[in-house]
This record gives sequence, structure tokens and C-alpha cells, in this order.
Amino acid sequence: MNLSTLPKIELHLHLDGSINPMTASKILNCSVNDIVKELTVSDNCRDLNEYLTKFSLPEQILQTKENLSLIAENLALDLKKENVIYAEIRFAPMKHLKEGLTKEEVVDSILEGLKKVDIQTNLILCMMRGAPYEENLEVITLAKKYLHRGVCAIDLAGAEALYKTEDYRSLFALAKKENIPFTIHAGEADGKESIKSAISFDPKRIGHGVRIIEAPELIPIIKKKNILLEICPTSNIQTSIFKTYQDHPIKKLYDEFIPLSINTDNRTVSNTTLTEEYHHLITNLNMSIQDIININKTTILHTFLNSNEQDKLLKKYTELSDKWLKEQNKD
Ligand SMILES: [Zn+2]
Repeated sequence: MNLSTLPKIELHLHLDGSINPMTASKILNCSVNDIVKELTVSDNCRDLNEYLTKFSLPEQILQTKENLSLIAENLALDLKKENVIYAEIRFAPMKHLKEGLTKEEVVDSILEGLKKVDIQTNLILCMMRGAPYEENLEVITLAKKYLHRGVCAIDLAGAEALYKTEDYRSLFALAKKENIPFTIHAGEADGKESIKSAISFDPKRIGHGVRIIEAPELIPIIKKKNILLEICPTSNIQTSIFKTYQDHPIKKLYDEFIPLSINTDNRTVSNTTLTEEYHHLITNLNMSIQDIININKTTILHTFLNSNEQDKLLKKYTELSDKWLKEQNKD
């Protein structure tokens, strides 16, 4: 089975965690090996602190129009290589203003880079936990300006254990009022209370959300509200939420009919691809290829595309995956 050619959808993918090491080595004029050490966690990483150190070099690099554009373009090429046919890529615009760029220049540069590759993408703008209220407000204003012009939603990222989800209620209420769709990182470093607050904001999706397994009483609620969990198995193991792939609850959540998607979170930091994520789920959790295809189809119905675009993408995905299945059966 050639998983790398299976068509794929990815919804939870951070630009700064997914810098192609070759591109970074060219920008910084140093060896790829040295760069990989800076950008990627060690093989047995089980530590959120180690995980977080891998974002400091990306933040230094992603401060010019040229670098933003080049890194976005090369990420799009990496996605295309494993047949991702639609991706929503996220980043925190306020992190890229250190050398004088405006927020608009940041978004424009990333969009320009993505445009160079023939792949359907959208951007999600991240507000940050711990950032001043006004800065997060600026992210909402920016999203409003670019909505349907390359930006599809907002998110809340950052240290969930330090800054309570509940504290961001008024920002999400404002986003809702402005008709800006949103997802929220919740149920990763914090548990039940964080997920409970996130659910009450009425998001379309929750980033991770895996710790819902600790609060089964919330399961019927997210099912009723049709909220999708953006699940990133390898990232969860590296940040020590679960010890091994066998311990990961994705299969249990899938069997409970909770809408969910499979994601890399940070391709370079986590040293993973969707192909590898699928492989881990098939080998360690006995998920079938049909499960993976079903998950991708459900994922399409939870993208931030409008319903016409979703229908078109679902049709395309179905055709491509049917064709892929036939090819695999031939071999
Ligand atoms: Zn994330």
C-alpha cells in the first residue's frame, strides 16, 4: 500500500513548526544537519519544554517578506509531495513583526508564496494565549479584512496550562459577532475545564481536544454540536500527553463517532508527515485504510470552506481515493 500517494486533507498545521530544513539551511547558509538539530525534536522527545524550544529559530527566520514567502512556498511543495489536496495553514501574525513588517505584509507574503504552488490552501490566523488583549483584537480585525481572500478563520494557540481558555471568552464572542469562523487549541496541555469553555464558545473545531477522553460527559455535547477534533497523534506523544501510539485515544474517539481529522501539527518540529501519521494509526491502532479515507471525507465537511467548495472538494477527494484504491488492488 502506497500511503504517500493517497489523497489527504490537513487542517491543523503550523507554518513556523513546518519549515523545510533545506530551505532554512539555504536562508541561514549552514548545513542541513545543524538546522535539523535546531528545528526538530529528538527521536524520543517526551517533553513539552523541549518541544517548545524548537520554535525559536523559526521565529527569527520568519521576519522578512522573502523568507515568509519562500517558506510558505516550500511548505506547499512538501504538502503536494504527499498528495495533500487541501490544507489550512496557521500562524500567529503578531510574531512576525519584529523587523518592521506590517501584519498585512506578513499575510500577503505568505499568500504570495502559497500561490506559486498548485494546491488549494487557506490561512488560519492565531491569537496567542498570554498576548495582550489588544494584540489578539488586532488578529480578529486582520482576519475580518482578509476573510474569503486567503484567510478562512482564527485560532487561539500558546500555553494552555498557563492561560485559561475561559479568559478568551470575550474575544471569541466578538469573532462570532463578526461572523469569523474559529477553532481553538484546547484539551492538550489542559483538560476538562478548557474543553468545556472552548465548547461553550461555539467553535466549528477544537485543536487537539484529545483530553476529552478524561471527561466522557462532554462527548455527547461535541457530537451534538458537530464540533470536529483536530487530532495530531505524534505531537501528543512528543509533548507527553500519551506515552505511545497504542495509548492514543484517536481510535476510541473514532469508534464513538466523534468527528475528527488527522494532522501533523508541526511537520518539522515533530519530524512527521501525514503519510507517517496514517502509518502509525494503521500499525499501532489497527485502523483500516477505509477508516483513514472516511476520516478525510468527514474532515472535508469541517473545513472552513463554504458548502459549495466543500461539495466540490468532497467530489474530488472521492474520485481520487476511489482511483487510488483501485490502483492498490491492482498491485
Ligand atoms: Zn497546534
